[in-house]
Amino acid sequence: MGSGYELSCRYCDYRQPITLGVGMAYGSIETLLDLAPRSRRAEVQQALVAHPDGCAEFRHALYRCTGCNCRDGRFYYKVDCGGGRTLEPDYHCRHCQAPLLREPDTVDPNIPGTTDTWPCPSCGNTGLHAGLTLLWD
Ligand SMILES: [Zn+2]
Ligand SMILES: [Zn+2]
Repeated sequence: MGSGYELSCRYCDYRQPITLGVGMAYGSIETLLDLAPRSRRAEVQQALVAHPDGCAEFRHALYRCTGCNCRDGRFYYKVDCGGGRTLEPDYHCRHCQAPLLREPDTVDPNIPGTTDTWPCPSCGNTGLHAGLTLLWD
């Protein structure tokens, strides 16, 4: 089950929808290829052909921008391609193009207080509100 949240700022009109989690429809390799970044699909497909059991995990994960500090839910996957190498996606911020870093799994907007320490990327004040907007499968 996946979750959709809307982050909002108490001080300005900043709003950011984020999508996290794993949907039921994610059981197939085709879904992984659909959701992987277009530029990465060929290498993911090659790795999965060579290692059909190589897909270790995939879900919408929480990322933080190293530039403007905004948060976003992006599709994360980890595919084992043998020899200790794994494929993972790299993402860049939609707003400032800086690299996005994946947050640890312990950072979950569903846990009360988590977003209280997040700075607003728009006005810089600390403390965002996270409202659950939908559950999807
Ligand atoms: Zn950014
Ligand atoms: Zn703000």
